[in-house]
Amino acid sequence: MLTHRLNTGFATAVLILLAVQAYFNVVSWWWLAIPVVLWLVFAVAGSGLVQSGYHIKTLNSQKPVTGRQIALTFDDGPTPYTEKVLELLDRYNVKATFFCIGTQIEKYPHILKKIVDSGHTVGNHSYSHSNKMAIFPVTKIVEEIKHTNALIQQYTHKQTVLYRPPFGVTSPNIAKALHQTGHYVIGWNIRSLDAVIDSESKILKRIKKRLNAGGIILLHDTSQKSVNVLEQLLLLLQQENYKVVQTGQLLNIPDYEE
Ligand SMILES: [Zn+2]
Repeated sequence: MLTHRLNTGFATAVLILLAVQAYFNVVSWWWLAIPVVLWLVFAVAGSGLVQSGYHIKTLNSQKPVTGRQIALTFDDGPTPYTEKVLELLDRYNVKATFFCIGTQIEKYPHILKKIVDSGHTVGNHSYSHSNKMAIFPVTKIVEEIKHTNALIQQYTHKQTVLYRPPFGVTSPNIAKALHQTGHYVIGWNIRSLDAVIDSESKILKRIKKRLNAGGIILLHDTSQKSVNVLEQLLLLLQQENYKVVQTGQLLNIPDYEE
């Protein structure tokens, strides 16, 4: 794991500096701050960037790339906008993956069912979608993941093995929890920022610039803005000859427990 190699590297650097200091007494104590600060920078960046695989292996795109395939993923539903997304996907005969939040499933179980009935895949996106998940105890994180899996199972009879961490944030505790539940950790490599950017054309431009074969696109089924962007995006993907496939198919892993 990258995090172990980095920790060992930084600890070695500190030890070398300490040894040099003890022997020659020439190193300023301030030098010791350098590896410590660097370690902190790496730890913070590694936790925030899902692609870094800092704490746990995350799958962010197809490797090696075979053909012009791409996957569409929708986070934070189900919501009433999910139904509009489903209509559009149907029109283009495209199948996608929806990473659903437990509390949203409890509000809209019939929409969750509709996602699966329409031939799309459902993944787990935690129960609470808390921004404090990284510092939750391992048992609480395991409970969140299992609770959402149970809800998905209850309404769709599917046991998903795909998990996407809220905000793409990982931590040692999240990694430990996922080792226990055995989920594949699904990230992305094309972030639309559709929940952050206001202008639909800017979001589409951002995605267009980042399109790549084997890529995983991150969108949200939580607003009319994202629905409008999706309509344009589906047209663009068709024009650029991309074949939209399910995430599991793209990554050559199962979507559900057999
Ligand atoms: Zn989310």
